[in-house]
Amino acid sequence: MATMHAAVLVEPGRLVVDINVGCGICYYCRRNEILNCVKAQQIGISCDGAIAEYVRAPANLIIPAPSDTAVEVLALTEPLACVVRAARKSRMTFGQSVVVIGAGPIGNLHVQMARLVGAAPIIVAETSPERAEMACEAGADIAVTNPGLLSETVRKNTAGRGADVVIESVGHPDLYQEAFRLIRPGGHVTTFGITDPGDSVPLDLLQTVLRENSIKVRLPEWDRICTMR
Ligand SMILES: [Zn+2]
Repeated sequence: MATMHAAVLVEPGRLVVDINVGCGICYYCRRNEILNCVKAQQIGISCDGAIAEYVRAPANLIIPAPSDTAVEVLALTEPLACVVRAARKSRMTFGQSVVVIGAGPIGNLHVQMARLVGAAPIIVAETSPERAEMACEAGADIAVTNPGLLSETVRKNTAGRGADVVIESVGHPDLYQEAFRLIRPGGHVTTFGITDPGDSVPLDLLQTVLRENSIKVRLPEWDRICTMR
């Protein structure tokens, strides 16, 4: 495989690639905030990706995988890494109530991540009954398919407080607004779903300040899963 660092040869085989390519030396790159690098590129987004016949990637972003790893697992590695990063930025931990809005493939990874760290209860908001069922199989305690019942369900299962963490995993302004309504005082919203450019939501700044709420902006960057703590 050709690389941007021509002196390094990567052996053929099963590999995963960190798609986020920064300059490697700027303020942001040195803090693993690659997407804030002014030279950042994303393989598969700003240039050809894995569906192309040949892909060029920096050798230091190519990670060999065990030869018996299923390709389905390899395909999920990058999205899972984003989910791990979001969990770390949210400081999601044991005993926290977590709401995941949206139970698509990524939403269900959030559910599994929440289960892995011992969060409880894990409540999923998903209008598709099939996806809601998958979320429960993935580890959700409760799946709400009727949006009109979501707030009541969250309050009922958090002693009336609201959730410690709400993860928006759809990318719709209305759902981001809903996320802010669902958190408890002092809780936080994890932004994950990709909205259209320019989308915005009104934010009650006074209440956000007084209640010490916070917003954790997930950067869609690679985090090595093995560094998860
Ligand atoms: Zn940089």
